[in-house]
Amino acid sequence: MKFSVVTIFPQIIWANLEFGILGKAIDKEKIEVSTYDPRDYSKSPTKRVDDKPFGGGSGMVMEAGPIIKAVEEAKKKSIDAHVIYLSPQGKLFNQEKAKELADKSNIILISGRYEGVDQRVVDHIVDEEISIGDYVLSGGEIASLILIDSISRQIEGVVGDFQSVEDDSLYDGLLKHPQYTRPEESEYGVVPKILLSGNHESIRSWKIKKSLENTMKKRPDLLEKANLDKEKKKVLGQIKKDEEKT
Ligand code: SAM
Repeated sequence: MKFSVVTIFPQIIWANLEFGILGKAIDKEKIEVSTYDPRDYSKSPTKRVDDKPFGGGSGMVMEAGPIIKAVEEAKKKSIDAHVIYLSPQGKLFNQEKAKELADKSNIILISGRYEGVDQRVVDHIVDEEISIGDYVLSGGEIASLILIDSISRQIEGVVGDFQSVEDDSLYDGLLKHPQYTRPEESEYGVVPKILLSGNHESIRSWKIKKSLENTMKKRPDLLEKANLDKEKKKVLGQIKKDEEKT
């Protein structure tokens, strides 16, 4: 998977790619990241890439020309690239979208700054606008990094044990069960006995039940959309019955 990030602050991208799973994914050549700075395509002697908005209004708008040229340059090395503009006006990003985008081989991420980009960028060269949440950031770099991280995790070989990705919260539309590690007992509480029992079937059932309870408690909206199999439906029914009794 190749990611090309169009940004006037490439340092923000590179500073966050040195560590952990993403750093290793780059070393192992599971993912490749390049940055393209619109300033390199600015015609202005001062490398300026923003100007006042037509019609008045606050702040500055990023000019279309330098961004589109940067995207075109990235496209030369990324055949069939899917171009995303990170924007608070985009469709909300989620795990399902991360999985969908992991099937692409080339993604170009446009990170805006100031008041955002000239609309002609979106009209001319963007395939989709994605928002990482209903709030406004100062720039699209962090949003681009969030996409790079979450999409990369869906690529086989990026996380050492792919099972752990499949076990993550939201992979199957539910939140994960609670997790514990050593010590078994401390002043902060004890580990549920069943996890120490060695009985794999009971542990598996416990994890399913706790995952459903967790989701019901913290994100009931997810349960409404989740595609539950027969076993999970049955467990959920039992949880609801037990709740009614109490
Ligand atoms: N004036 C713009 C608007 O109201 O839609 C917001 C511009 S914002 C200050 C600057 C840049 O941050 C945007 O161009 C975009 O790339 C990025 N950005 C801000 N919030 C974002 C979000 N929720 N998701 C993705 N990118 C975001």
